Amino acid sequence: MPRSGHRDGRPVSRHIVVVGTGAAGLGVAQELRHLGYDEALTLVGAENHPPYDRPPLSKRFLTGAADAEQLWLAGPDTLDRLGATVHRGRRATGADLAARTVSLDDGRRLPYTDLVIATGVTPRTLPGIAEHAGAVTLKTLEDAHSLTGRLRPGRRLVVVGGGFLGTETAWTALSMGCEVTLVTPTPTVLPGLGEQVGSLTGERLAAAGATVLTGTAVEAVRQGDGPPGSGDLRVLLDNGTRLPADTVLTAIGSAPDVGWCGTTGLDLADGIRCDAVGRAAPGVHACGDVAAWYCPPHGRHLRLEHRMHAGDQARVVAADLLGGHRELDWVPFFWTDQGPHKIVVHGLITPEAEFETHEADTEHDRFTGVYRTNGRVCAVLGWNAPKQILRLRRELLTGPQTALGTPPPAGAPKPG
Ligand SMILES: Cc1cc2nc3c(=O)[nH]c(=O)nc-3n(C[C@H](O)[C@H](O)[C@H](O)COP(=O)(O)OP(=O)(O)OC[C@H]3O[C@@H](n4cnc5c(N)ncnc54)[C@H](O)[C@@H]3O)c2cc1C
Repeated sequence: MPRSGHRDGRPVSRHIVVVGTGAAGLGVAQELRHLGYDEALTLVGAENHPPYDRPPLSKRFLTGAADAEQLWLAGPDTLDRLGATVHRGRRATGADLAARTVSLDDGRRLPYTDLVIATGVTPRTLPGIAEHAGAVTLKTLEDAHSLTGRLRPGRRLVVVGGGFLGTETAWTALSMGCEVTLVTPTPTVLPGLGEQVGSLTGERLAAAGATVLTGTAVEAVRQGDGPPGSGDLRVLLDNGTRLPADTVLTAIGSAPDVGWCGTTGLDLADGIRCDAVGRAAPGVHACGDVAAWYCPPHGRHLRLEHRMHAGDQARVVAADLLGGHRELDWVPFFWTDQGPHKIVVHGLITPEAEFETHEADTEHDRFTGVYRTNGRVCAVLGWNAPKQILRLRRELLTGPQTALGTPPPAGAPKPG
């Protein structure tokens, strides 16, 4: 329910400012209106596009099967109906939490009663790589546009990094006729899913035509023999190998976009540290990829970079802003499209978790599996098994007997 605040003993009408207009920031704004908030709302987004969905950037959008408008989470009409002031193509450069103002890169200073930070993450890069014309990362529509133009049949793509983004893009580039080499220092691709699933994914990627080099790190990327700017590159590996490439995609993870919060006094140890409903400081919430929320079932802060988790957190933040209460579902789920294979995971795979196949249907290339920590189920995985994995989630993860299904004890403190 809308409410007014007080400052210096004076009532102030409410003005919620959301910085970042991805899935999380837009999600907060939409949920606020959905819950009846009818006071001032401002969105500040660095990108000059309507808010859009990122997962297709490494999949359908890259192949040309989807265009930019199909990725919009809210087109111009939907944004108009939101009744918000939208600063598009504008970056927040700082915030004064005591004065409750946010500074923008055009010199403007926006007063707020409540600030929501949803600025996501920025791809990490290799030192010195940015100077090469063919060296790219994949985060924005512009990145995907530029990469699509480079993925022509017969072109040589080297993917640095064997995580979700690197492997997904490798599959997509193969489907577009590219010669793909993927390099990762880890023993398998997708190390976060454990040895068994990672090895299988790497084998399938290799069988589809990619060269998968595991246990090998990239030392440097150099200009090849072609003229500078021609995109003729050499990728030097730590075992002495030199890989020729037209394009090098660096997909080695991301860092939370918090540079602009440096002087706020917020805890920025890993993104923005929040309590279990996204409160970072009085008058400040954070959500989405940038935010590390306290997770009661695990007793620690967790920062996840999953599309659905960003939307779930946004709804919790909006409820909290309006004085309501909503628990975050701490059985998050994410998916990754590995070419023809869809992997879906529910729950949280801890580093020490052990994987065991639960059901396998080799005829249909389908299986489910369970991750256990100290004998307790912490996550379930489906390989081409969307229906089966939902059943497994219900049976093993969200039942009252499971660690993650157990709500925090009543009255449990909410660490900040
Ligand atoms: C290529 C790709 C594929 C993906 N595929 C999957 C998938 O298959 N499954 C899955 O679960 N997840 C996937 N993800 C992750 C998912 O997209 C993210 O978890 C989700 O987008 C997070 O939303 P967010 O709003 O927190 O951050 P973002 O979407 O990053 O939005 C943050 C916004 O804030 C803006 N911003 C940053 N700093 C400032 C500032 N100072 N001022 C103003 N604005 C600022 C940024 O420009 C950006 O527009 C993928 C991500 C990428 C990049």
